[in-house]
Amino acid sequence: MSASKAVNFPIERTQHSRLSETDFSNLEFGTVNSDHMFVVDYKKGEWVDPKIIPFQNISVSPACSSLHYGQTVFEGMKAFRAPNGDLLVFRPEKHLERMNNSNRRLCIPEIPAEYFYDAIDALVKLDQDWIPNQEGCSLYLRPFIFANDPFIGVKPSSAYKFMIFTCPVAGYYKGTVKVIIESDFVRASPGGIGAAKTGGNYAASLLPAKLAADKGYQQILWTDSKEHKYFEESGTMNLMFVINDVLITPSLDGSILPGITRDTILTIAKDWGVKVEERRVSVEEVITAFNNGTLQDAFGTGTAATITQIAEIHHNGKDMVLPPVAGRTLSNKLNQTIVDLKNGIGEDKYNWVH
Ligand code: PMP
Repeated sequence: MSASKAVNFPIERTQHSRLSETDFSNLEFGTVNSDHMFVVDYKKGEWVDPKIIPFQNISVSPACSSLHYGQTVFEGMKAFRAPNGDLLVFRPEKHLERMNNSNRRLCIPEIPAEYFYDAIDALVKLDQDWIPNQEGCSLYLRPFIFANDPFIGVKPSSAYKFMIFTCPVAGYYKGTVKVIIESDFVRASPGGIGAAKTGGNYAASLLPAKLAADKGYQQILWTDSKEHKYFEESGTMNLMFVINDVLITPSLDGSILPGITRDTILTIAKDWGVKVEERRVSVEEVITAFNNGTLQDAFGTGTAATITQIAEIHHNGKDMVLPPVAGRTLSNKLNQTIVDLKNGIGEDKYNWVH
């Protein structure tokens, strides 16, 4: 990680670790928290009282402005244990950069690098026994910041709380997903907040995702807000296609979240000599490629599962059944390469592993 001045903060260790009561063989995403959390307040232009304390509830005023107007930002990243025991975090600089880009869009003060990095280092060291040993598992880190003024006027808050807690998690979906192309609801639109990792985007996705799930589809493929003609992203993943051996992904147009896995994949694929195109991808182009047999692969990318291959795409009453996963050489190889890198296996030529 880039150099930053270290900060000192007190660490209050828990007297009642829940580690021995936790069933690591049955982890459900986000349901179990490790023993400790980091918290720092922002008041009157200053960061005050940084500390690590036992994981616990916090109290806020019922008028807490973020509860009403959603002035919040979060991140999601993972820590792993390498075969030699080293504790590893993947591309934390990118997560801080994205968090601060989101913060600027939401009128939230930027997080100083030293709080972000030192808090993650200290938390992962302190709760390292919470990193599950099972294959595909990791410690999920959830940094977040929220407006904390006890005031219900609509304006940027003057007080914030920045916190990080962690959860041991199992591998995400094993296997593929069935998806549906959304041509009614929209996730985000140009000039909106789609490129920021903020609660409102996820709130907007709940009803369409529920309606899709009711029809048997695990994810939505979002399309542009104007014409529903061009792909944007998929659920909590960025979207990629392989057509005629070219890796194609929607360009970042301001309404798509700039995924760190997306960037990782594009960098590695270009390095391997794969032809990569970041541009608008129309629904029609993908349907045509499917019909003429040149659509070789479609997958989502994200921290949760790295790569989630798409088995079927539903559009206008028809299901397009994609080629079997075993033959999808590029996405299988990319997935293995990135999973290995995150777990400290193989050369880290890009210096991504902290
Ligand atoms: N899009 C959305 C809406 C997401 O929530 C995520 C998950 N953070 C992604 C894309 C993928 O981003 P990343 O690769 O950084 O996890």
